[in-house]
Amino acid sequence: MSIEEQIGMYIGGNWVNTDDKLEIINPSNGKSISKVPNADHDHVDTAVEYSRKAFEDSSWRELDPTQRGRILRKISDKTYEIAKDLAKIESINQGKTFRDALSDIRFAAWTIEYYAGWTDKIEGNTIPVPGERLDYTLKQPLGVTAHIIPWNFPFQLGVRSIAPALAAGCTVIAKPASLTPLSLLTWFKHIQDLGLPDNVLQIITGSGGKIGNYLTRHSGVDGIALTGSVETGKNVMRQAAENLTPVSLELGGKGANIIFEDANPKIAAKALNFGAFWNAGEMCWAGSRAIVHESIIDEVLSYMKEELQTKWKLGPGLEEGVRMGPLVSESHRSEVMELTQKGIEQGATLFLGGDLPQGELSEGYFMNPTIVTDLKENNLLLHEEVFGPVLSVLSFSDDDEALRLANDTKFGLLNGLFTNNLKRTHRFARDLQSGMITVNEFPVTFPQTPFVGWKHSGIGAEQGQIALDFYTKTKNVNINFG
Ligand code: NAD
Repeated sequence: MSIEEQIGMYIGGNWVNTDDKLEIINPSNGKSISKVPNADHDHVDTAVEYSRKAFEDSSWRELDPTQRGRILRKISDKTYEIAKDLAKIESINQGKTFRDALSDIRFAAWTIEYYAGWTDKIEGNTIPVPGERLDYTLKQPLGVTAHIIPWNFPFQLGVRSIAPALAAGCTVIAKPASLTPLSLLTWFKHIQDLGLPDNVLQIITGSGGKIGNYLTRHSGVDGIALTGSVETGKNVMRQAAENLTPVSLELGGKGANIIFEDANPKIAAKALNFGAFWNAGEMCWAGSRAIVHESIIDEVLSYMKEELQTKWKLGPGLEEGVRMGPLVSESHRSEVMELTQKGIEQGATLFLGGDLPQGELSEGYFMNPTIVTDLKENNLLLHEEVFGPVLSVLSFSDDDEALRLANDTKFGLLNGLFTNNLKRTHRFARDLQSGMITVNEFPVTFPQTPFVGWKHSGIGAEQGQIALDFYTKTKNVNINFG
Protein backbone atom coordinates (compact mmCIF):
# COMPACT_ATOMS: atom_id res chain seq x y z
CA MET A 1 0.00 0.00 0.00
CA SER A 2 1.49 3.34 -0.96
CA ILE A 3 0.33 6.93 -0.98
CA GLU A 4 -1.58 7.72 -4.16
CA GLU A 5 -0.63 10.88 -6.02
CA GLN A 6 -4.29 11.89 -6.00
CA ILE A 7 -7.01 10.42 -3.89
CA GLY A 8 -10.72 11.21 -4.12
CA MET A 9 -13.31 11.65 -1.42
CA TYR A 10 -16.15 9.18 -1.00
CA ILE A 11 -19.61 10.72 -1.28
CA GLY A 12 -22.89 9.60 -2.83
CA GLY A 13 -21.58 6.09 -3.42
CA ASN A 14 -18.63 7.26 -5.54
CA TRP A 15 -15.02 8.31 -5.26
CA VAL A 16 -15.31 11.95 -6.29
CA ASN A 17 -12.58 14.27 -7.53
CA THR A 18 -12.59 18.03 -8.03
CA ASP A 19 -10.45 20.43 -10.04
CA ASP A 20 -9.78 22.42 -6.92
CA LYS A 21 -7.43 20.37 -4.72
CA LEU A 22 -5.72 20.48 -1.35
CA GLU A 23 -2.00 19.79 -1.44
CA ILE A 24 -0.94 17.30 1.22
CA ILE A 25 2.53 17.87 2.66
CA ASN A 26 5.06 15.67 4.43
CA PRO A 27 6.01 17.81 7.47
CA SER A 28 9.40 16.09 7.77
CA ASN A 29 10.64 17.73 4.57
CA GLY A 30 7.94 20.15 3.38
CA LYS A 31 7.38 18.16 0.16
CA SER A 32 4.03 17.46 -1.44
CA ILE A 33 2.91 13.82 -1.13
CA SER A 34 -0.62 13.80 -2.52
CA LYS A 35 -3.66 15.86 -3.49
CA VAL A 36 -7.23 15.50 -2.28
CA PRO A 37 -10.44 17.29 -3.31
CA ASN A 38 -11.21 20.67 -1.83
CA ALA A 39 -14.96 20.15 -1.55
CA ASP A 40 -17.55 22.90 -1.74
CA HIS A 41 -21.05 23.38 -0.38
CA ASP A 42 -22.68 21.33 -3.16
CA HIS A 43 -20.59 18.32 -2.14
CA VAL A 44 -21.76 18.74 1.43
CA ASP A 45 -25.39 18.88 0.25
CA THR A 46 -24.85 15.68 -1.73
CA ALA A 47 -23.25 13.90 1.23
CA VAL A 48 -26.06 14.94 3.58
CA GLU A 49 -28.75 13.93 1.10
CA TYR A 50 -27.25 10.45 0.65
CA SER A 51 -26.60 10.06 4.34
CA ARG A 52 -30.27 10.86 5.01
CA LYS A 53 -31.38 8.31 2.42
CA ALA A 54 -29.08 5.67 3.89
CA PHE A 55 -30.44 6.37 7.34
CA GLU A 56 -34.05 6.27 6.27
CA ASP A 57 -33.91 3.20 4.08
CA SER A 58 -33.27 1.24 7.32
CA SER A 59 -30.65 -1.07 5.83
CA TRP A 60 -28.26 -0.14 8.61
CA ARG A 61 -30.30 1.15 11.54
CA GLU A 62 -32.78 -1.73 11.37
CA LEU A 63 -30.30 -4.42 10.45
CA ASP A 64 -30.24 -7.28 12.98
CA PRO A 65 -27.99 -5.63 15.59
CA THR A 66 -25.81 -8.74 15.91
CA GLN A 67 -25.23 -8.60 12.18
CA ARG A 68 -24.31 -4.92 12.49
CA GLY A 69 -21.76 -5.96 15.10
CA ARG A 70 -20.36 -8.67 12.82
CA ILE A 71 -19.77 -6.12 10.06
CA LEU A 72 -17.98 -3.82 12.48
CA ARG A 73 -15.95 -6.79 13.66
CA LYS A 74 -14.84 -7.46 10.07
CA ILE A 75 -13.85 -3.80 9.73
CA SER A 76 -11.87 -4.04 12.95
CA ASP A 77 -10.09 -7.22 11.76
CA LYS A 78 -9.18 -5.56 8.47
CA THR A 79 -7.91 -2.48 10.31
CA TYR A 80 -5.59 -4.64 12.44
CA GLU A 81 -4.47 -6.45 9.28
CA ILE A 82 -3.48 -3.28 7.42
CA ALA A 83 -2.29 -1.38 10.52
CA LYS A 84 1.38 -1.26 9.49
CA ASP A 85 0.58 0.13 6.05
CA LEU A 86 -1.78 2.72 7.48
CA ALA A 87 0.79 3.64 10.13
CA LYS A 88 3.33 4.34 7.44
CA ILE A 89 0.92 6.69 5.66
CA GLU A 90 -0.05 8.36 8.96
CA SER A 91 3.59 8.87 9.86
CA ILE A 92 4.45 10.45 6.50
CA ASN A 93 1.36 12.69 6.48
CA GLN A 94 1.26 13.76 10.13
CA GLY A 95 4.93 13.55 11.11
CA LYS A 96 4.53 11.21 14.10
CA THR A 97 6.88 8.26 14.49
CA PHE A 98 5.96 4.95 12.89
CA ARG A 99 5.78 3.31 16.32
CA ASP A 100 3.35 5.95 17.60
CA ALA A 101 1.30 5.81 14.41
CA LEU A 102 1.05 2.04 14.67
CA SER A 103 -0.17 2.29 18.24
CA ASP A 104 -2.81 4.85 17.10
CA ILE A 105 -4.06 2.60 14.30
CA ARG A 106 -4.24 -0.43 16.58
CA PHE A 107 -6.05 1.61 19.21
CA ALA A 108 -8.56 2.60 16.53
CA ALA A 109 -9.01 -1.04 15.47
CA TRP A 110 -9.56 -1.94 19.12
CA THR A 111 -12.15 0.86 19.39
CA ILE A 112 -14.13 -0.62 16.47
CA GLU A 113 -13.82 -4.07 18.06
CA TYR A 114 -15.10 -2.68 21.36
CA TYR A 115 -18.15 -1.03 19.78
CA ALA A 116 -18.83 -4.09 17.61
CA GLY A 117 -19.67 -5.77 20.89
CA TRP A 118 -22.19 -3.08 21.83
CA THR A 119 -24.54 -3.23 18.83
CA ASP A 120 -26.94 -5.73 20.45
CA LYS A 121 -26.63 -4.35 23.97
CA ILE A 122 -28.06 -0.86 23.52
CA GLU A 123 -31.09 -1.29 25.75
CA GLY A 124 -33.89 0.87 27.09
CA ASN A 125 -35.58 0.10 30.40
CA THR A 126 -39.00 -0.46 31.94
CA ILE A 127 -40.28 2.09 34.42
CA PRO A 128 -42.71 1.32 37.27
CA VAL A 129 -45.72 3.70 36.97
CA PRO A 130 -49.13 3.68 38.71
CA GLY A 131 -52.18 1.84 37.36
CA GLU A 132 -52.67 -0.72 34.63
CA ARG A 133 -49.86 0.53 32.49
CA LEU A 134 -46.61 -0.52 30.93
CA ASP A 135 -44.01 2.20 30.57
CA TYR A 136 -40.67 1.71 28.86
CA THR A 137 -37.95 3.52 26.94
CA LEU A 138 -36.55 2.85 23.51
CA LYS A 139 -33.03 3.83 22.49
CA GLN A 140 -33.05 4.81 18.82
CA PRO A 141 -30.21 6.00 16.58
CA LEU A 142 -29.67 9.77 16.44
CA GLY A 143 -29.60 9.89 12.62
CA VAL A 144 -27.19 11.60 10.24
CA THR A 145 -24.03 12.48 12.13
CA ALA A 146 -21.15 14.75 11.10
CA HIS A 147 -17.67 14.01 12.47
CA ILE A 148 -15.10 16.77 12.32
CA ILE A 149 -11.62 15.47 12.96
CA PRO A 150 -8.34 17.19 13.98
CA TRP A 151 -4.86 16.62 12.57
CA ASN A 152 -3.00 15.41 15.66
CA PHE A 153 -4.34 11.81 15.75
CA PRO A 154 -6.03 11.85 12.32
CA PHE A 155 -7.06 8.21 12.17
CA GLN A 156 -7.57 7.31 15.81
CA LEU A 157 -9.69 10.35 16.64
CA GLY A 158 -11.74 9.90 13.48
CA VAL A 159 -12.53 6.30 14.31
CA ARG A 160 -13.11 7.17 17.97
CA SER A 161 -16.40 8.85 17.11
CA ILE A 162 -17.24 6.99 13.88
CA ALA A 163 -17.30 3.57 15.62
CA PRO A 164 -19.94 4.31 18.30
CA ALA A 165 -22.07 6.20 15.75
CA LEU A 166 -22.10 3.18 13.43
CA ALA A 167 -22.69 0.79 16.33
CA ALA A 168 -25.77 2.80 17.34
CA GLY A 169 -27.18 2.61 13.78
CA CYS A 170 -26.40 6.18 12.71
CA THR A 171 -25.02 7.21 9.35
CA VAL A 172 -21.74 9.11 9.24
CA ILE A 173 -20.19 11.94 7.26
CA ALA A 174 -16.55 12.28 8.30
CA LYS A 175 -14.46 15.36 7.58
CA PRO A 176 -10.77 14.86 8.29
CA ALA A 177 -8.55 17.88 8.95
CA SER A 178 -7.42 19.42 5.69
CA LEU A 179 -3.75 18.72 6.51
CA THR A 180 -4.13 15.00 7.29
CA PRO A 181 -6.84 13.17 5.33
CA LEU A 182 -4.77 10.30 3.89
CA SER A 183 -5.07 7.56 6.51
CA LEU A 184 -8.86 7.72 6.77
CA LEU A 185 -9.36 7.83 2.99
CA THR A 186 -6.97 4.91 2.43
CA TRP A 187 -8.62 2.90 5.21
CA PHE A 188 -12.02 3.41 3.66
CA LYS A 189 -10.81 1.94 0.36
CA HIS A 190 -9.99 -1.26 2.24
CA ILE A 191 -13.16 -1.54 4.31
CA GLN A 192 -15.83 -0.26 1.94
CA ASP A 193 -16.76 -3.74 0.69
CA LEU A 194 -16.98 -5.42 4.09
CA GLY A 195 -20.74 -5.04 4.48
CA LEU A 196 -21.53 -1.42 5.26
CA PRO A 197 -24.52 -0.44 3.11
CA ASP A 198 -23.83 2.34 0.62
CA ASN A 199 -23.49 5.83 2.06
CA VAL A 200 -23.67 4.73 5.68
CA LEU A 201 -20.13 6.09 5.89
CA GLN A 202 -18.95 8.93 3.63
CA ILE A 203 -15.73 10.92 3.81
CA ILE A 204 -15.56 14.48 2.55
CA THR A 205 -12.34 16.49 2.32
CA GLY A 206 -11.90 20.23 2.40
CA SER A 207 -11.32 23.23 4.58
CA GLY A 208 -12.85 23.58 8.03
CA GLY A 209 -13.83 27.20 7.54
CA LYS A 210 -15.72 26.32 4.36
CA ILE A 211 -17.22 22.83 4.35
CA GLY A 212 -16.78 22.11 8.09
CA ASN A 213 -18.64 25.27 8.89
CA TYR A 214 -21.35 24.56 6.31
CA LEU A 215 -21.80 21.00 7.54
CA THR A 216 -22.33 22.15 11.12
CA ARG A 217 -25.16 24.50 10.19
CA HIS A 218 -26.80 22.09 7.78
CA SER A 219 -30.41 21.36 8.67
CA GLY A 220 -30.01 17.78 7.40
CA VAL A 221 -27.48 16.90 10.10
CA ASP A 222 -28.83 15.41 13.35
CA GLY A 223 -25.67 15.46 15.44
CA ILE A 224 -22.13 16.83 15.30
CA ALA A 225 -19.04 15.36 16.92
CA LEU A 226 -16.09 17.73 16.83
CA THR A 227 -12.60 17.10 18.13
CA GLY A 228 -10.69 20.32 17.73
CA SER A 229 -9.69 23.60 19.30
CA VAL A 230 -11.78 25.68 21.69
CA GLU A 231 -12.30 28.39 19.07
CA THR A 232 -13.61 25.86 16.56
CA GLY A 233 -15.77 24.34 19.29
CA LYS A 234 -17.40 27.71 19.97
CA ASN A 235 -17.97 28.28 16.24
CA VAL A 236 -19.47 24.84 15.77
CA MET A 237 -21.77 25.31 18.75
CA ARG A 238 -22.96 28.67 17.41
CA GLN A 239 -23.65 27.19 13.99
CA ALA A 240 -25.36 24.15 15.44
CA ALA A 241 -27.62 26.37 17.56
CA GLU A 242 -29.31 27.52 14.36
CA ASN A 243 -30.97 24.09 13.99
CA LEU A 244 -30.69 23.05 17.65
CA THR A 245 -28.39 20.24 16.50
CA PRO A 246 -26.78 18.41 19.43
CA VAL A 247 -23.01 18.63 19.65
CA SER A 248 -20.28 16.57 21.27
CA LEU A 249 -17.17 18.69 21.69
CA GLU A 250 -13.73 17.34 22.59
CA LEU A 251 -11.52 20.41 22.81
CA GLY A 252 -8.19 21.56 24.19
CA GLY A 253 -6.32 20.96 27.42
CA LYS A 254 -3.63 22.19 29.78
CA GLY A 255 -3.12 19.10 31.90
CA ALA A 256 -0.93 19.06 34.99
CA ASN A 257 1.22 16.24 36.32
CA ILE A 258 1.71 16.62 40.06
CA ILE A 259 4.89 14.98 41.33
CA PHE A 260 4.80 14.58 45.12
CA GLU A 261 7.86 14.19 47.33
CA ASP A 262 7.29 10.43 47.75
CA ALA A 263 7.40 9.78 43.98
CA ASN A 264 10.36 8.07 42.33
CA PRO A 265 12.09 11.02 40.57
CA LYS A 266 13.40 8.93 37.68
CA ILE A 267 10.05 7.33 36.89
CA ALA A 268 8.33 10.71 37.24
CA ALA A 269 10.86 12.33 34.88
CA LYS A 270 10.22 9.70 32.21
CA ALA A 271 6.46 10.14 32.54
CA LEU A 272 6.76 13.93 32.35
CA ASN A 273 8.77 13.66 29.15
CA PHE A 274 6.34 11.21 27.64
CA GLY A 275 3.30 13.28 28.68
CA ALA A 276 4.75 16.47 27.23
CA PHE A 277 6.74 15.36 24.16
CA TRP A 278 4.98 12.30 22.81
CA ASN A 279 3.45 13.19 19.41
CA ALA A 280 5.67 16.31 19.52
CA GLY A 281 3.39 17.62 22.26
CA GLU A 282 0.49 17.91 19.81
CA MET A 283 -1.96 16.36 22.24
CA CYS A 284 -5.11 17.75 23.80
CA TRP A 285 -4.37 15.63 26.87
CA ALA A 286 -0.68 16.55 27.07
CA GLY A 287 0.76 17.04 30.54
CA SER A 288 1.96 20.45 29.46
CA ARG A 289 2.31 21.64 33.07
CA ALA A 290 4.47 19.85 35.66
CA ILE A 291 3.89 20.74 39.32
CA VAL A 292 6.82 19.24 41.21
CA HIS A 293 7.52 19.19 44.94
CA GLU A 294 10.33 21.63 45.80
CA SER A 295 12.38 18.89 47.51
CA ILE A 296 12.84 16.87 44.28
CA ILE A 297 12.40 19.40 41.48
CA ASP A 298 16.13 19.72 40.66
CA GLU A 299 16.60 15.97 40.55
CA VAL A 300 13.50 15.49 38.34
CA LEU A 301 14.59 18.22 35.93
CA SER A 302 18.07 16.78 35.65
CA TYR A 303 16.73 13.26 34.84
CA MET A 304 14.39 14.79 32.26
CA LYS A 305 17.19 16.65 30.56
CA GLU A 306 19.41 13.58 30.49
CA GLU A 307 16.68 11.42 28.98
CA LEU A 308 15.73 14.02 26.36
CA GLN A 309 19.34 14.51 25.30
CA THR A 310 20.17 10.81 25.07
CA LYS A 311 16.94 9.02 24.15
CA TRP A 312 14.65 11.46 22.34
CA LYS A 313 16.14 11.53 18.86
CA LEU A 314 14.41 13.98 16.50
CA GLY A 315 13.84 13.07 12.88
CA PRO A 316 11.41 11.91 10.21
CA GLY A 317 8.83 9.57 11.71
CA LEU A 318 9.83 6.59 9.57
CA GLU A 319 13.50 6.73 10.49
CA GLU A 320 14.81 4.04 12.83
CA GLY A 321 15.37 5.17 16.42
CA VAL A 322 13.46 8.45 16.08
CA ARG A 323 11.36 9.31 19.13
CA MET A 324 9.92 12.69 18.08
CA GLY A 325 8.87 13.87 14.62
CA PRO A 326 8.18 17.36 13.27
CA LEU A 327 5.20 19.56 14.05
CA VAL A 328 2.37 19.23 11.57
CA SER A 329 2.93 22.41 9.55
CA GLU A 330 5.19 25.40 9.27
CA SER A 331 2.47 27.82 10.38
CA HIS A 332 1.68 25.73 13.44
CA ARG A 333 5.37 25.59 14.38
CA SER A 334 5.55 29.41 14.07
CA GLU A 335 2.60 29.74 16.46
CA VAL A 336 4.24 27.40 18.97
CA MET A 337 7.56 29.29 18.77
CA GLU A 338 5.78 32.63 19.12
CA LEU A 339 3.87 31.58 22.24
CA THR A 340 7.06 30.15 23.75
CA GLN A 341 8.90 33.40 23.08
CA LYS A 342 6.10 35.46 24.65
CA GLY A 343 6.19 33.23 27.75
CA ILE A 344 9.93 33.86 28.06
CA GLU A 345 9.36 37.61 27.66
CA GLN A 346 6.88 37.31 30.54
CA GLY A 347 9.72 36.07 32.75
CA ALA A 348 9.88 32.28 32.30
CA THR A 349 13.40 30.79 32.36
CA LEU A 350 14.41 28.58 29.45
CA PHE A 351 15.74 25.34 30.96
CA LEU A 352 16.04 23.38 27.70
CA GLY A 353 15.39 23.81 23.96
CA GLY A 354 13.30 26.74 22.74
CA ASP A 355 14.98 26.53 19.33
CA LEU A 356 14.89 24.64 16.06
CA PRO A 357 17.29 21.85 15.11
CA GLN A 358 19.76 22.73 12.38
CA GLY A 359 21.39 20.74 9.59
CA GLU A 360 19.47 18.09 7.71
CA LEU A 361 16.30 18.60 9.76
CA SER A 362 15.99 22.25 8.78
CA GLU A 363 13.82 21.34 5.75
CA GLY A 364 11.09 19.97 8.04
CA TYR A 365 8.96 21.61 10.74
CA PHE A 366 10.99 20.31 13.69
CA MET A 367 11.35 21.97 17.06
CA ASN A 368 13.52 20.87 19.95
CA PRO A 369 11.82 19.68 23.15
CA THR A 370 11.48 22.72 25.37
CA ILE A 371 11.23 23.09 29.15
CA VAL A 372 10.60 26.39 30.93
CA THR A 373 10.77 27.02 34.68
CA ASP A 374 10.30 29.89 37.19
CA LEU A 375 6.95 30.93 35.76
CA LYS A 376 4.76 33.52 37.42
CA GLU A 377 1.23 32.25 37.91
CA ASN A 378 -0.17 34.47 35.17
CA ASN A 379 2.41 33.43 32.55
CA LEU A 380 0.60 32.54 29.34
CA LEU A 381 2.52 29.27 29.12
CA LEU A 382 0.53 28.09 32.14
CA HIS A 383 -2.80 29.05 30.60
CA GLU A 384 -2.71 28.87 26.80
CA GLU A 385 -2.72 25.55 25.00
CA VAL A 386 0.62 25.67 23.15
CA PHE A 387 0.03 22.33 21.37
CA GLY A 388 3.70 21.67 20.79
CA PRO A 389 6.75 20.29 22.62
CA VAL A 390 6.78 22.84 25.42
CA LEU A 391 6.55 21.92 29.11
CA SER A 392 6.07 24.50 31.88
CA VAL A 393 7.41 23.45 35.30
CA LEU A 394 6.31 24.87 38.65
CA SER A 395 7.35 23.91 42.16
CA PHE A 396 5.11 23.55 45.24
CA SER A 397 5.61 23.09 48.94
CA ASP A 398 2.34 21.59 50.24
CA ASP A 399 -0.68 19.69 48.94
CA ASP A 400 -3.07 22.65 49.08
CA GLU A 401 -0.75 24.68 46.90
CA ALA A 402 -0.40 21.83 44.39
CA LEU A 403 -4.17 21.48 44.11
CA ARG A 404 -4.69 25.21 43.68
CA LEU A 405 -2.04 25.44 40.95
CA ALA A 406 -3.39 22.39 39.10
CA ASN A 407 -6.93 23.77 39.07
CA ASP A 408 -5.82 27.26 38.00
CA THR A 409 -6.75 26.76 34.33
CA LYS A 410 -9.78 27.20 32.12
CA PHE A 411 -9.24 23.64 30.83
CA GLY A 412 -10.13 20.35 32.52
CA LEU A 413 -9.12 17.28 30.51
CA LEU A 414 -6.49 14.99 32.09
CA ASN A 415 -4.41 15.50 35.24
CA GLY A 416 -1.82 13.09 36.62
CA LEU A 417 -0.59 12.30 40.14
CA PHE A 418 2.66 10.60 41.10
CA THR A 419 2.47 9.42 44.70
CA ASN A 420 2.01 6.29 46.79
CA ASN A 421 -0.01 8.07 49.47
CA LEU A 422 -3.53 6.64 49.42
CA LYS A 423 -5.30 9.46 51.28
CA ARG A 424 -3.72 12.09 49.08
CA THR A 425 -4.56 10.13 45.91
CA HIS A 426 -8.26 9.99 46.73
CA ARG A 427 -8.41 13.60 47.86
CA PHE A 428 -6.87 14.81 44.61
CA ALA A 429 -8.97 12.42 42.50
CA ARG A 430 -12.02 14.02 44.11
CA ASP A 431 -10.90 17.66 44.00
CA LEU A 432 -9.06 18.04 40.69
CA GLN A 433 -11.33 19.80 38.22
CA SER A 434 -10.87 17.58 35.18
CA GLY A 435 -12.79 14.86 33.41
CA MET A 436 -9.92 12.36 33.74
CA ILE A 437 -7.31 11.61 36.40
CA THR A 438 -4.47 9.10 36.14
CA VAL A 439 -2.20 7.95 38.96
CA ASN A 440 1.44 6.84 38.55
CA GLU A 441 1.34 6.76 34.73
CA PHE A 442 0.62 9.43 32.12
CA PRO A 443 -1.17 9.64 29.77
CA VAL A 444 -3.35 6.57 29.44
CA THR A 445 -6.82 5.76 28.11
CA PHE A 446 -8.67 2.73 26.69
CA PRO A 447 -11.53 2.35 24.19
CA GLN A 448 -13.78 1.26 27.06
CA THR A 449 -13.01 4.19 29.39
CA PRO A 450 -14.67 7.60 29.02
CA PHE A 451 -12.58 10.39 27.50
CA VAL A 452 -14.10 13.46 29.10
CA GLY A 453 -13.27 17.15 29.12
CA TRP A 454 -14.59 19.52 31.75
CA LYS A 455 -14.67 23.31 31.54
CA HIS A 456 -13.24 24.55 28.20
CA SER A 457 -12.05 21.04 27.38
CA GLY A 458 -15.41 19.99 26.08
CA ILE A 459 -19.01 18.95 26.28
CA GLY A 460 -19.98 15.28 26.33
CA ALA A 461 -17.75 12.22 26.34
CA GLU A 462 -16.03 9.98 23.83
CA GLN A 463 -15.16 6.28 24.26
CA GLY A 464 -16.79 3.72 26.53
CA GLN A 465 -20.47 2.99 26.97
CA ILE A 466 -21.19 6.65 27.70
CA ALA A 467 -20.34 7.72 24.12
CA LEU A 468 -23.31 5.71 22.87
CA ASP A 469 -25.64 8.12 24.71
CA PHE A 470 -24.83 10.83 22.19
CA TYR A 471 -25.59 8.62 19.21
CA THR A 472 -28.96 7.42 20.54
CA LYS A 473 -32.22 9.23 21.28
CA THR A 474 -34.40 8.13 24.17
CA LYS A 475 -38.11 7.63 23.54
CA ASN A 476 -40.61 7.01 26.31
CA VAL A 477 -43.58 4.75 25.61
CA ASN A 478 -46.65 4.57 27.89
CA ILE A 479 -49.28 1.85 27.33
CA ASN A 480 -52.59 1.75 29.15
CA PHE A 481 -53.99 -1.79 29.16
CA GLY A 482 -56.52 -1.29 31.95
P1 NAD B 1 -9.04 22.81 14.66
O1 NAD B 1 -10.09 23.24 15.61
O2 NAD B 1 -8.29 23.84 13.92
O3 NAD B 1 -9.62 21.82 13.57
C1 NAD B 1 -10.37 20.67 13.93
C2 NAD B 1 -11.29 20.31 12.79
O4 NAD B 1 -12.28 21.33 12.69
C3 NAD B 1 -10.62 20.24 11.41
O5 NAD B 1 -11.20 19.20 10.65
C4 NAD B 1 -10.95 21.59 10.82
O6 NAD B 1 -10.94 21.57 9.41
C5 NAD B 1 -12.35 21.81 11.35
N1 NAD B 1 -12.78 23.21 11.43
C6 NAD B 1 -12.02 24.32 11.55
N2 NAD B 1 -12.79 25.42 11.59
C7 NAD B 1 -14.07 24.99 11.51
C8 NAD B 1 -15.33 25.65 11.53
N3 NAD B 1 -15.44 26.97 11.63
N4 NAD B 1 -16.44 24.90 11.45
C9 NAD B 1 -16.38 23.55 11.38
N5 NAD B 1 -15.21 22.88 11.33
C10 NAD B 1 -14.07 23.59 11.40
O7 NAD B 1 -8.10 21.85 15.53
P2 NAD B 1 -6.75 21.17 15.07
O8 NAD B 1 -5.76 22.29 14.97
O9 NAD B 1 -6.97 20.27 13.92
O10 NAD B 1 -6.44 20.25 16.32
C11 NAD B 1 -5.86 20.72 17.46
C12 NAD B 1 -6.90 21.06 18.53
O11 NAD B 1 -7.74 19.94 18.75
C13 NAD B 1 -6.25 21.36 19.85
O12 NAD B 1 -6.90 22.45 20.47
C14 NAD B 1 -6.47 20.09 20.64
O13 NAD B 1 -6.45 20.25 22.02
C15 NAD B 1 -7.79 19.65 20.15
N6 NAD B 1 -7.95 18.22 20.39
C16 NAD B 1 -8.80 17.79 21.36
C17 NAD B 1 -8.93 16.43 21.64
C18 NAD B 1 -9.83 15.91 22.72
O14 NAD B 1 -10.18 14.73 22.69
N7 NAD B 1 -10.24 16.71 23.68
C19 NAD B 1 -8.17 15.52 20.90
C20 NAD B 1 -7.31 16.01 19.92
C21 NAD B 1 -7.23 17.37 19.67
